[in-house]
Amino acid sequence: MRDTTYQYIDGSWIEGESNDEITVRNPAEPDEPIVSFPGADQEQARAAVDAAEAASDQWAAMAPADREAILYDAADRIEAQLDSLAETLTREEGKPISSSRGEVSRAAEIFRFFANDARNATGDTVPSNDPDTFTYTIREPLGVVTLISPWNFPIATPSWKLATALATGNTVVLKPSSETPMIAKRLVELLADAGVPDGVVNLVVGSGSTVGDHLTTHEAVDGVSFTGSTGTGRHIQKTVADRGIPIQTEMGGKNPLVVLPDADLEAAAEAAIGGSCGGTGQACTATSRLIVHEDVAAELTDAVVERANALSIGPGMNDPDMGPAVSAAENETNLEYIEIAKEEGATLLTGGGRPEDMETGYFIEPTVFTGVESDMRIAQEEVFGPVLGIIEVADFDEAVEVANDVTYGLSASIFTSDMTSSRAFTRQVEAGVVKVNGTTTGSQIQMPFGGMKASSSETHKEMGQRAHEFYTHEKVIYRSD
Ligand code: NAD
Repeated sequence: MRDTTYQYIDGSWIEGESNDEITVRNPAEPDEPIVSFPGADQEQARAAVDAAEAASDQWAAMAPADREAILYDAADRIEAQLDSLAETLTREEGKPISSSRGEVSRAAEIFRFFANDARNATGDTVPSNDPDTFTYTIREPLGVVTLISPWNFPIATPSWKLATALATGNTVVLKPSSETPMIAKRLVELLADAGVPDGVVNLVVGSGSTVGDHLTTHEAVDGVSFTGSTGTGRHIQKTVADRGIPIQTEMGGKNPLVVLPDADLEAAAEAAIGGSCGGTGQACTATSRLIVHEDVAAELTDAVVERANALSIGPGMNDPDMGPAVSAAENETNLEYIEIAKEEGATLLTGGGRPEDMETGYFIEPTVFTGVESDMRIAQEEVFGPVLGIIEVADFDEAVEVANDVTYGLSASIFTSDMTSSRAFTRQVEAGVVKVNGTTTGSQIQMPFGGMKASSSETHKEMGQRAHEFYTHEKVIYRSD
């Protein structure tokens, strides 16, 4: 019998009690569902927060070295199960198996890196004006933190939220995307096996509209860390505003890659296709606008189209260059945007539909448009599929103006061999992550990650040396005893 217990509350795996049915499909072979189960209801969401609250004092009081040891153990367990975790990830999300292996391996690395926060998230000793007063700061856990994650990096994203929150002494409720509950369940099982006590990590799998508000507005919730679309993030910002608790929202993107005439065009074309089609374009940092100087537009466009046409497409388990979109709905959205771009007058150079002879999975061709204008919807709205729009510009200033001409501000890249241009770009572009001669995608965990404008609440960035700041209060102490 298939396991349908996806809710983990206070150390017990139980069935959801709502009428929402969650069905997991392999996006490459969606006809036969992998599993179907009831989502959590509102009482279960609230019970998960209650359990986290009850476990809070004990977890916060545990010696930092003991919390750190549990997280190291979790990392070892992730690594020991790398192959089967990667298979689970590919079966429910669709990405190529080598990408899944990379993501699982990164999850282990994340747990190791942030495990150290248990001992390293320190305060400061500050010189005092008064010799009889000792002045210093300490960092204390927020308490109960709700972690909400999307489906596109379904083990890495929960891992960096969980690892930092747990290391710094918080208890959590994790709500993963309903597209990818299987990998979330396995991650939570591994944490429990590693010795995370009952109630410290709770898992609620349910529809955002049923459980979401209960997980963010419950009076015991002390913070919310959300990654997902800007629409959902904005909704959560509004719902928690009344309580004024810390909230971190990392949201959508419409990321530009600028190419100047002095650039290495082969490298730029490689980055543009890697950035737009890697992960089937389903990355918040995906390259969606290729902003190219008119002098090199023709040559670059040829190189981009050649690379797009060379990509292999297929089921993730066959390890192609590009797997399917995650769901039928996402793929329909991709195809709708392609029609919108055509209607707006953009010229389709390659792709634009489902690949021939691949009617069953949610497959889509790598798609490149030229003749894109900055005010077109294809240049303004996040598509979240392998669709690249080429925008020609006359000079550097126009390139920056177009790059900034969107509501989003997550990542941006420039290809140039001129240091003056690259320096000016890093200063002028409105993006939280800026690359010079690199793809808009990809990040290193020791570097902070997060956006600007509609891409982020910009409170505290995730990852990096100071990710723990979001998960901790800084208390300022004056002691004259
Ligand atoms: P989504 O906004 O639809 O869902 C994200 C999560 O929010 C899911 O777990 C969902 O169930 C939950 N949710 C939905 N309604 C809710 C509510 N009312 N209250 C609480 N939670 C609710 O996003 P998605 O489709 O899963 O992911 C794709 C989006 O995520 C894209 O826009 C992408 O750019 C963005 N993303 C951003 C980053 C980043 O770091 N900036 C990283 C990855 C993905």
